[in-house]
Amino acid sequence: MSLDLAKKILNVLVEIGIKHVILIGGDNETILKIFPILNELYEGRVVLEPRLPLCVFPKDFLKKLISEGQIQNMCHVQNRSGIVFDNDGYILPCNSMVEVKMGKIGKDFSNGKELLALLNSDDIRSGYVEMLKYPSEECTFCNLNDYCRGGCIVNWTVLDPEICHRIVEE
Ligand code: SF4
Ligand code: SF4
Repeated sequence: MSLDLAKKILNVLVEIGIKHVILIGGDNETILKIFPILNELYEGRVVLEPRLPLCVFPKDFLKKLISEGQIQNMCHVQNRSGIVFDNDGYILPCNSMVEVKMGKIGKDFSNGKELLALLNSDDIRSGYVEMLKYPSEECTFCNLNDYCRGGCIVNWTVLDPEICHRIVEE
C-alpha cells in the first residue's frame, strides 16, 4: 500500500471515530514512514508493536518511543503469559507455531490443575528456555534486551542473527 493511500484511509477512520488501528506486516522502513502520520492523527495515542529486532530502527526513534511509552515488542510467548488451543485441542505456544504441540486436552490434561502441572513440567519449561534464547550474543550485551529479546521468535526462521547489534547507552 502506498503512503498516500494509507493516509487517505487513516483520515477516513479518524473522521468516524475509530480508536484502534492495527497495521499488519510492514518492514522497518514502512513503519518509520507511517508512524509519524499515525502519531499526529491520533495525537500520540499510538503504541508500536513491531515484533522485530529493535536494532533495525534508529536509536533516536527507539529512545523517543520508550520515553513516551509507545513501544511494546514482547509477546505472550516471551513472557509466558498465554497459550493457544488448536482446532484439535492441542496446546501451542502461539498460532504461528502449529507444529509445536505441547499437549492435548483429554490426553495430557483434563482440568485446570493438570494443565498448569503440564505447563510447569520440566519438559515444557526447558522447551521454553530453548525457544527464548537470544538470537545473537549481541542481545546479551544490549540495553534494550528487556524490551526486545530479538522480537518475534518465528522471524528467526528467515532472518539472519548477524543483523543484531547491541544498543548501549552513551
Ligand atoms: S541486539 Fe538483540 S536485544 Fe538488542 S535490539 Fe537487537 S535484537 Fe533486540
Ligand atoms: S512468537 Fe511471534 S508469532 Fe508467536 S505470538 Fe510471539 S510475536 Fe506472535
